[in-house]
Amino acid sequence: MSSHAPLAFAEERAVAVDAVLHAARVCLAVQRHLVAGATLAKGDKSPVTVADFAAQAVVSHLLRQRFPTLPMVGEEDADSLRQDEHAPLRARVLAAVEEVLPGLHQDDVLEAIDRGTYAGGPTGLHWTLDPIDGTKGFLRMEQYAIALALIEDGQVVLGVLGCPSLPVDAERPDGETGCLFVAVRGQGAFMRTLDDPTERPVRVSDASDPAHVRFCESVETAHTSQDDSAKVAELLGITAPPYRIDSQCKYAAVARGDASIYLRLPTKPGYVERIWDHAAGWAVITEAGGTVTDVLGQALDFSRGRGLEGNKGVIATNGPLHEQVVAAVRQVLGV
Ligand code: AMP
Ligand code: MG
Repeated sequence: MSSHAPLAFAEERAVAVDAVLHAARVCLAVQRHLVAGATLAKGDKSPVTVADFAAQAVVSHLLRQRFPTLPMVGEEDADSLRQDEHAPLRARVLAAVEEVLPGLHQDDVLEAIDRGTYAGGPTGLHWTLDPIDGTKGFLRMEQYAIALALIEDGQVVLGVLGCPSLPVDAERPDGETGCLFVAVRGQGAFMRTLDDPTERPVRVSDASDPAHVRFCESVETAHTSQDDSAKVAELLGITAPPYRIDSQCKYAAVARGDASIYLRLPTKPGYVERIWDHAAGWAVITEAGGTVTDVLGQALDFSRGRGLEGNKGVIATNGPLHEQVVAAVRQVLGV
């Protein structure tokens, strides 16, 4: 009997899933006792919550324990948390971490958060993490995701999306919530619930007529041009209203066929998409059989550092629809 070679990235996959599950528990706990004053303004004015920092600390710490030398491109750093004026917020972050990883010292937590400052780039292996993608959805008690991916020589090889508020069954929006999606290059995409480790494969829809599908986009009009997507939908003959959800839950929705298209159309000329906003979703959708490009139809280039400097916007589809959707987007945007 010949023994099977171990699957590539099996250990990274297991550790990444465990880390995202811990972060999901932090997020759910913080959300349960979210109180006024738990946010502070960042330079870009986006709300940053206790859960953002705590989730990054938890994921980073668990990854560092097993893979001490693997660097991480993360959305947050601990600079503001270290300031005296933010001592109350720091205390809340430590308390949130304590709920799932008891016994960590303050310095461990701050250092774990600060591991997110890696520059990324074209060579070597590194993680990228968005501890809470869709902070606005989180604060609205709607959708958000913990998004973790592994990038090897500029290529995404593993993605995990924790979606603590996403219905397990899209047909039953009031039913059980809390999903986790995981994909490794060449091994398919899978979904499980937060509580049950049983994984089932997920697959994009097989729709080939755009008139009968629905598309998803951001809730936030600052993050995508809903005016342009409405024109694209009209060109494609789409009549269903847009499915608006926050975060990389949009990638998950297309990956399991809840929708067939995800449009992220630029709102301002200079905006560069961040790798942590797309890497995990890219892996999940690609392994579920779908296609992801920018608005010109070019592949996303994760090798450029912390941003997708070579791309503008994002179009993700089930695959068969891709060319048509890109053509319609290019027509509407005039690019
Ligand atoms: P979503 O939940 O899909 O609306 O996306 C949330 C993400 O949008 C955040 O993590 C931000 O990094 C990102 N973001 C912020 N400003 C912009 C912008 N002008 N265009 C596109 N994405 C943005
Ligand atoms: Mg984000």
